[in-house]
Amino acid sequence: MSELTKTLSVTRIWQKKLVEWKDDISHLIYPNCCLICDSELPNKNIPICHFCENDLPYTLFESYTHETNMDKLFWGRVPVASTYSLLYFEKETSTQAILHGIKYQNKKKLAIEFGKRIGKQLSQQASFDSIDCLLPIPLHPKKEYLRGYNQSLLIAEGISLEKNLPIETKGVKRIKHGESQTKKSRFKRWDNVQNTFRIDPKLIGTYKHIALVDDVVTTGATIEACINEINEIFPNLKISIITLAIAK
Ligand SMILES: [Zn+2]
Repeated sequence: MSELTKTLSVTRIWQKKLVEWKDDISHLIYPNCCLICDSELPNKNIPICHFCENDLPYTLFESYTHETNMDKLFWGRVPVASTYSLLYFEKETSTQAILHGIKYQNKKKLAIEFGKRIGKQLSQQASFDSIDCLLPIPLHPKKEYLRGYNQSLLIAEGISLEKNLPIETKGVKRIKHGESQTKKSRFKRWDNVQNTFRIDPKLIGTYKHIALVDDVVTTGATIEACINEINEIFPNLKISIITLAIAK
């Protein structure tokens, strides 16, 4: 490496550090920042800036009188009572920033805020009225330890603030540490998630209609595996699915 290249790469590292410090300091001076893009907000009572708000790709599933893409995703796979997803997920949209923020940037308030928005929409849908518990899809304990939290639990907490529902965090455990799903074929993804969950019948048996809560649904393989495990013990339990986003 030449001296010039070395100097340039050191300069780049410092530039990056300065940007990070600027962000940290601006958060201290302006704690009221947009939960998605971190820009300063003009009004203390809004959590998300005008630009991010306008860029949110809502599914509007609550206004559908026919089946949604999400209903169809699980057809012929597992019995599902009702499904709901608030946003569409596509690359380069606000949804991508939200999912990245709640998974990798410790943006817990963002997950709770969108949980509340989901809860408000569910309140308008009678099919979700009989739900007696929210069950966030658990992370493997090692993954949760490294991340410090389960983003699906935070979304469930937001929903619960609106719907006043209990959250079941012990009835289903994730016992298999899944590899990344993104580069696998549909069958391999399905195969990869078999025997991923362990059900505690004493806890799950107390409910009549549970709603699984997850951050995003793409192929649905993880949720399908979880429902299969529950159905094996409780074939008549009603199960609904609620996610923050669904891949388009
Ligand atoms: Zn913003």
